[in-house]
Amino acid sequence: MRKLIIPLLLLSGTAFGQSKLRPTIDQKAASLESKVIEWRRDIHQHPELGNNEVRTAKKIADHLRSLGIEVTEGMAVTGVVGVLKGGKPGPMVALRADMDALPVTERVDLPFKSTVTTTYNGQETGVMHACGHDTHVAILMGVAEVLAGMRNQLEGSVKFIFQPAEEGIYEPGVTSWGAKQLVEEGVMKDVDAIFGLHISSQTEVGKIGYRSGPAQAAVDNLEIIVHGTQAHGASPWSGVDPIVTASQIVTGLQTILSRSVNITQNPAVVTVGAIHGGIRHNIIPEKVEMIGTIRTFGDEQQALVHKRITEIATNIAESAGARAEVNIQKLYPSTVNDPELTAKMVASMEAAAGKENINYNPPVTGAEDFSFYQREKPGLFIGLGGMKKGGDPTKTPSHHTPDFYIDEGGFVLGMRVLSYFVVDYMGMKK
Ligand SMILES: [Zn+2]
Ligand SMILES: [Zn+2]
Repeated sequence: MRKLIIPLLLLSGTAFGQSKLRPTIDQKAASLESKVIEWRRDIHQHPELGNNEVRTAKKIADHLRSLGIEVTEGMAVTGVVGVLKGGKPGPMVALRADMDALPVTERVDLPFKSTVTTTYNGQETGVMHACGHDTHVAILMGVAEVLAGMRNQLEGSVKFIFQPAEEGIYEPGVTSWGAKQLVEEGVMKDVDAIFGLHISSQTEVGKIGYRSGPAQAAVDNLEIIVHGTQAHGASPWSGVDPIVTASQIVTGLQTILSRSVNITQNPAVVTVGAIHGGIRHNIIPEKVEMIGTIRTFGDEQQALVHKRITEIATNIAESAGARAEVNIQKLYPSTVNDPELTAKMVASMEAAAGKENINYNPPVTGAEDFSFYQREKPGLFIGLGGMKKGGDPTKTPSHHTPDFYIDEGGFVLGMRVLSYFVVDYMGMKK
């Protein structure tokens, strides 16, 4: 027995080298709850769209400076990056929060409801933190305060990345690619590992969700132009009909998921969202344009799906005597949680939330630009419960809707788990 016990003790000693800091983290995080809620409400009431997060960025920068954290502003236009140097040498651990809101008019009746409006794509609209990025900012500001209070005991440094423009790189007013641009500006160069979280309006407060490997989809824009030969609608044999060809292509694309992708490993989605061709009942037009979205998990699957789309579209067109032009524009890659890092951090999540409150999530076909950081260094992105206890997720308004609502009871857990990630990771790297 003795032989068994000693290695186990050694192992736990290595794996949780800094677990002695956890009680201090718990205390400090709990004491900051009302402050974090106050910050969150203030940011919620003053939402800003991508690359316009000026007020939010200033609030963050002021706070970080008050904690003695070295601050760089204006990264990727409106991003704020702070570095907290620990008292002892060790790795650089990055934590990320996104800051942008959405062109959604808030319908929730709250004392800190947003009444901000803007003109978006020529339309008057409200601006709302309808994805909960206000909570991410407030939680990370809290984490900065927790960790700054124990800087002398930290065996390494912490980089706080407050990122602009997560929601859309083609939105009006968005001039940077958020995470991608921060990476290009070198934000990940000295980082060893990165962690982030997303609040969820449909997961109970107190719970944490995660998934190892590809967790969220890559998103790519698809455009197919089918070129035919215009003809009188009464004599189709005298032309090449791009409408019939486009219809066959749409049907053909369905076989990618049913026949080419190994669906036992990862799901994928190919959606044609718009078809435009023709102007009159008796004219066969010259061309048809189709646009859509592609969602895949991991580089290999993405390459396969792109290849099959191109083959199907061009060959179906060729068989009809038409020509298909396929353009695929890569937007966000798949959010892939490094399996080794994820496995190591399960204990930190369990310690923060309790084993029974950890969910292993199914893959999500929505995308997240956290993926750009993970392509540089190992990263883990988790979900944090923001639905009131006992709520029904099927009846709770989803993200990006006017009724989106977050219960503030999960913020302390958010601060605790991110802080645990930092100190536990540092402990492992000793
Ligand atoms: Zn969102
Ligand atoms: Zn979001």
